[in-house]
Amino acid sequence: MRRRRRLTVADYVEGVLGSERAILGRALTLVESSRPDHAEQAQAMLHALLPHTGAAHRVGITGVPGVGKSTLLERLGLHLLDAEHRVAVLAIDPTSQRSGGSILGDKTRMVRLSSDPRAFVRPSPTGGTLGGVHRRTRESVLVCEAAGYDVVFVETVGVGQSETAVSDMVDTFVVLMLAGAGDGLQGIKRGILELAEIIAVNKADGDNAPKAARARVAYARALRLVRPTSAQWRTPVRTCSGQTGDGVAELWETVCAHRRVLRETGELDDKRARQRRRWLETMLQDGLLEAVQAHPAVRAIRADVEAEVVAGRMTAARGAGQLLAAAGLSRGGG
Ligand code: GDP
Repeated sequence: MRRRRRLTVADYVEGVLGSERAILGRALTLVESSRPDHAEQAQAMLHALLPHTGAAHRVGITGVPGVGKSTLLERLGLHLLDAEHRVAVLAIDPTSQRSGGSILGDKTRMVRLSSDPRAFVRPSPTGGTLGGVHRRTRESVLVCEAAGYDVVFVETVGVGQSETAVSDMVDTFVVLMLAGAGDGLQGIKRGILELAEIIAVNKADGDNAPKAARARVAYARALRLVRPTSAQWRTPVRTCSGQTGDGVAELWETVCAHRRVLRETGELDDKRARQRRRWLETMLQDGLLEAVQAHPAVRAIRADVEAEVVAGRMTAARGAGQLLAAAGLSRGGG
């Protein structure tokens, strides 16, 4: 096989802006790479792409494995293609590092959507860290926007903190739920209700439809006890079925209604500005930690300091102070 030609930053930029799928795929691989030379190239590319980003409707979708995310996204994605949208799906699997395998990668997902030239479906590896989700996925969203996708879904399995990370990079965060075995709301995390901008009880079809309708009422009631995500928006609860398509168009209408409200109140700009500020914060924290840990003077004393702290002979604050001082950073007040 012929070796692939090495692309320059200009090649990447031109290819992405020209929406060349093969280059887009390679641009995302570049963004995902942890090699320092790749990182440099990726940042140069992103900097050139930035003026062409921001136009998409960014939509987060979360829910436990099996809730029907990929079935719904396939249905919704095809619906949007019919309406002349260009759709990208970035699927995050926060478990992909730990288990070695991947929940998302193990099955064939969104077959029709993936094979449609107007859509782009891509698993987004996290690199095993929350910072990884933040950087790689956010940057992938930007690349997709620059490539002209006007609806970008970020899908995540509802485990760990990836939901918080995703809700912090999208305009509209949709949480998929299932009707419980009984009528109660079993096992829902309060935190997720606080993040949700729209809740959809999925698999509302066949025998399950009445149960889903009751769950909808129960969720709506539970939401009254939760602080709203915005003064202008009360989280609505919908029912839908990715399998039959019932309620899917209405769900999308609701997503658009949310965005309309954000736009009309000016909240969209504020929200994105807040997200970017927090993104900088996260990158700064990650970068600092990495730099401190890699510093030779820190590495020279770290094991000893750690042993003292672990043994209870030194406070953690003093230990951290010594490590920071070794890295040439000292915190005021010791
Ligand atoms: P994901 O893990 O959240 O992506 O869930 P999938 O989309 O892979 O769906 C998990 C299982 O639920 C599959 O066996 C689907 O066939 C089934 N399923 C998905 N959506 C629906 C739905 O709307 N109704 C019903 N009855 N089953 C569904």
